Amino acid sequence: MTGVSTAVVLAGGKGTRLASAFPDLAKPMVPVDGLPIAEHLVRTYAAQGVRRFIFTLGYRGNQLRVHFGDGSAWGVSVEYFEEREPLGTAGALAELQDELGAAPFWVFYADTLSSVDLSRMEAHHRANSADATLLVHPNDHPYDSDLVDAEPTGRVRAVYGKPHPADREVRNVVNAALYLLEPSMLREIPRGVASDFGRDLFPKWAASHRLYAYSTPEYIKDMGKPERRVQVEAALRQGKVEARNLRNRQRAVFLDRDGVINVDSDLIKHPDELVLVPGAAAAIHALNQSDLIAVVVTNQSVVARNLTDEAGVDRIHARMERLLADEAGAFVDAIYYCPHHPHGGFPEENPAYKIECSCRKPKPGMLLAAADRFNIDLSSSYLVGDSPRDIEAGQAAGVAATLRVRTGHGLKPSTAAPTVQVDDLSAAVAWILEREKSRTSQA
Ligand SMILES: [Zn+2]
Repeated sequence: MTGVSTAVVLAGGKGTRLASAFPDLAKPMVPVDGLPIAEHLVRTYAAQGVRRFIFTLGYRGNQLRVHFGDGSAWGVSVEYFEEREPLGTAGALAELQDELGAAPFWVFYADTLSSVDLSRMEAHHRANSADATLLVHPNDHPYDSDLVDAEPTGRVRAVYGKPHPADREVRNVVNAALYLLEPSMLREIPRGVASDFGRDLFPKWAASHRLYAYSTPEYIKDMGKPERRVQVEAALRQGKVEARNLRNRQRAVFLDRDGVINVDSDLIKHPDELVLVPGAAAAIHALNQSDLIAVVVTNQSVVARNLTDEAGVDRIHARMERLLADEAGAFVDAIYYCPHHPHGGFPEENPAYKIECSCRKPKPGMLLAAADRFNIDLSSSYLVGDSPRDIEAGQAAGVAATLRVRTGHGLKPSTAAPTVQVDDLSAAVAWILEREKSRTSQA
């Protein structure tokens, strides 16, 4: 349950693209699996403790009034704010200062279907004393989206609108249109003029305020286009929307990086050195279509060895994510790396990272951290690696199966026996998905 009980629902947009299929309906009233999109939103988040929904109304807004009334049929209060003129995604909020009072509030988009564990996002917001937190995720078309450049802590450094300059390496971190705002931020929205969160406010707030990104593999998708509505409806009917909510146990595939996703050319220190293993992008795309989340866990002693720094590792990961997206519309849900190395005493090293840590594989620290963050059931998850260290880390974390690929260091002898040896990541993912099939048929 969330302690933030008020939500503003932005329902003023014109559904120009969806309108071809539903010419008479306001976009939030377009049905998905038998219910208006906006009703899915009210039901999902009323169940998590949101008690008060304020709809900002625009085009055909009266349909929402007629449908929701005062909200009592859903056990909540529903209020309405009429935009006299279109004020963009943010402009309408500036007019709501008096209604919203002194407590933080959620911002939802009425044409977006999601199921997010709000309590986790709220905890992230509070732990960082954030002024505003935006939900982010990787997607299959990052270069057509607003990209968020955040520190590992989540602190947003910059927000880049499209089109993106080709020479800049930015991670696949996309603004997914669900926010938690402190009431003080209402004063930072210009009154009476149209403005947009992604385009106008967040790029500015990144410099002036504590703007945080909260990254999650949970389901959130907007229905700006008719084909998306069909995809969302299918996901909803298959139970995929609710299953991904982090209140529910998740299952993951942990992926080593060098030798599994990219060719292991030994100590990669620059993005240009990163080349994908043939078929790896398509394999990860197949994982993205499954119920499993994809988490990279990689030892990167290049930092401890002073061959690059953490910002450099970030650029390398940005390149990897771009290659995965370009080649197959693939993405990974999270990347964990260990920058440490235990053996000190080399003149060129970075002593701050020359420590005995709990994250460097074969220790299971990175897998345990991901399991905690995403509520992962390790005993029904998988690990794919090329070295004995990977297999040992998977075993120490208690995963259901470890898969050793023959690319990279896969041919080194080892005492740590994997569950199975396979040629490469494609074969590993095929093995996992086949096992999943029999798992589903038994259930
Ligand atoms: Zn470490």
